Amino acid sequence: MRWVFEEIAKDNWPLEHIRKMANKEGLKCERMNFWRLVRNPVYCGKIIIPQHNDEQMRLTDGQHEPLITETLFYEAQDVLEGRKRKKAALQVSLDELPLRTLISCPGCHRMLTGSKSKGKRLHYYYYHCVCGVRLSAPKCNDLFIKKLDEYAVRPEAVDLVIAVTTQVYKSRTHNDVEAKKMILADIENNTQKIAKARTLLLDDSIDADDFKAIKADCEAQIDRLEAKMANMKENPLAKMNINILIEKVIKGFVGLTERFKFADIKKKRQMVCSLFPEKLLFDGEAYRTPRPNLAAEAILLINNVLSGNKKGKEDYLKSLSLMVALK
Ligand SMILES: [Zn+2]
Repeated sequence: MRWVFEEIAKDNWPLEHIRKMANKEGLKCERMNFWRLVRNPVYCGKIIIPQHNDEQMRLTDGQHEPLITETLFYEAQDVLEGRKRKKAALQVSLDELPLRTLISCPGCHRMLTGSKSKGKRLHYYYYHCVCGVRLSAPKCNDLFIKKLDEYAVRPEAVDLVIAVTTQVYKSRTHNDVEAKKMILADIENNTQKIAKARTLLLDDSIDADDFKAIKADCEAQIDRLEAKMANMKENPLAKMNINILIEKVIKGFVGLTERFKFADIKKKRQMVCSLFPEKLLFDGEAYRTPRPNLAAEAILLINNVLSGNKKGKEDYLKSLSLMVALK
């Protein structure tokens, strides 16, 4: 099962292909059952406490030894969720129903589908769900534009966006750079030890057996460190030039709402999915998202600060970097 999660997180194969490969290795698992297994947090040491009276369903630490790390589990979940949304974004939809299958039902959290019905003179468009929920499409679309507006960068915010993007970039890449530096220093340290032992051997301060033992020990350490380094995931942010990142953020978020309004249906659906990599929950009056994309998150904060909250820029940057550090 650990192999399965690793393969999913690598995002190289379709889930069904991974299932077949795992079955060849002796897993014996049907398609539906497999689908449930790979979403079960029990593998990273959690157990599900089901919904009870007015208490929501939640996760808690189990007593058992986790088979995989929580990070790996959630990486795999991100890949599964992201694929689903990418697939959904590619589905064709009517111009009047840009959010079809991209937003969830306020009643039951299934994804809403949509259709048009004919009135006496006009067509009416609806988002609806198998549970019976039926919502006016123009109303849902307008509310979505309102949501989008929260993420649009206003001209007066551009400077702040540049400052914040730089800050976020630095905090997100800092740890990786530091971790690599530490591993390299450790490798260097072990290499030095071997050299030192060799000097001691030549001075007759230690005998050949001691030297061999020290050398083998250090070489084993170096192997382990090199493997660790090779396994470190390349942070996609680190490969990006900071100026290109800033340009992307500005281009992406200045005039966001207008661009959405005038985009064709295909582009609209792509925009929804890249801004909101996780599903949008619609409660009938407003949209919520468990996690917008990183840039959107930062801009939302900036806009909140600019509209009323009188905190100074510096204070704000501090709280933002704290937020990033906590992630
Ligand atoms: Zn429903």
